[in-house]
Amino acid sequence: NVKDIVVMRFAPNPSGPLHLGHARAAVLNDYFSKKYNGKLILRLEDTDPKRVLPEAYDMIKEDLKWLGVKVDEVVIQSDRMKIYYEYGRKLIEMGHAYVCTCDPEEFRKLRENGQACQCRDLGVERNLELWDKMLNGELENTVVRLKTDIAHKNPSIRDFPIFRIEKTLHPRTGDKYCVYPLMNFSVPVDDHLLSMTHVLRGKDHIVNTEKQKYVFDYFGWKMPEYIHYGILKIEGPVLSTSKMHAGILEGKYNGWDDPRLGTLRALKRRGIKPEAIYKLMTEIGIKQADVKFSWENLYAANKDIIDKDAKRFF
Ligand code: GLU
Repeated sequence: NVKDIVVMRFAPNPSGPLHLGHARAAVLNDYFSKKYNGKLILRLEDTDPKRVLPEAYDMIKEDLKWLGVKVDEVVIQSDRMKIYYEYGRKLIEMGHAYVCTCDPEEFRKLRENGQACQCRDLGVERNLELWDKMLNGELENTVVRLKTDIAHKNPSIRDFPIFRIEKTLHPRTGDKYCVYPLMNFSVPVDDHLLSMTHVLRGKDHIVNTEKQKYVFDYFGWKMPEYIHYGILKIEGPVLSTSKMHAGILEGKYNGWDDPRLGTLRALKRRGIKPEAIYKLMTEIGIKQADVKFSWENLYAANKDIIDKDAKRFF
């Protein structure tokens, strides 16, 4: 099947609608997967229940449709918890991961000095018992850590966590999970299971790629190809879903289609054509240096397709 030769994904967190930063990832993955007759998967990454906005699942699908990004398949991570538990358990069985009950502050101090904590060498059997307790909701403040080089030059990589406890109902499923995988575990597991061939994402993920490589290596999986593009620097709008959300709750912004937020729905309301955004994002391409994006660029590069009145709204 030619569609399986190139498999790419757009993997937003459903914490709000899409903004211009997302649009770049969505457009580039769409553009390249189509160019090579490949498949594009929309993967909604909702394993942090605190950052899930239930309305966002539909908003994201609508925004992609408006933008002209057609996905072949939708995968929702909160439907895959059993898979993450299964692979988490395997890593513990193989001795590559351990349950850590240390006080976070104490662990941080040890980590700064490149020292292992006492949980690291408790042995597989004891770790499996603790893992079962964790899944049964019997433990508090516990994480599962992946064994890495304990003196790695980047302290954030030293035995980074791959599961944590979050005693809350999941806003989408309503399930009372208490153990959630962290992105640096669920992302490589899914990238492997969904047969991803190319991961195209911002260079803010470079450190995550290094963490995710441990997961691929421990399972003996082949890594996809990684391409990291530079950061899109945009003057003016807020391009952070958590800041947007807080601002909306505080009444600073008038909903998700407030133009100061740079969301696609705000641009749509202001008369910007989706083709203009799609074209500009593909023109910027996958430059690795940071790219300055200004509203002027959006108009200048696309004056032919932008509604002529759009500019007056900004
Ligand atoms: N969901 C994560 C994010 O939006 C991961 C994205 C990715 O791996 O491309 O930052």
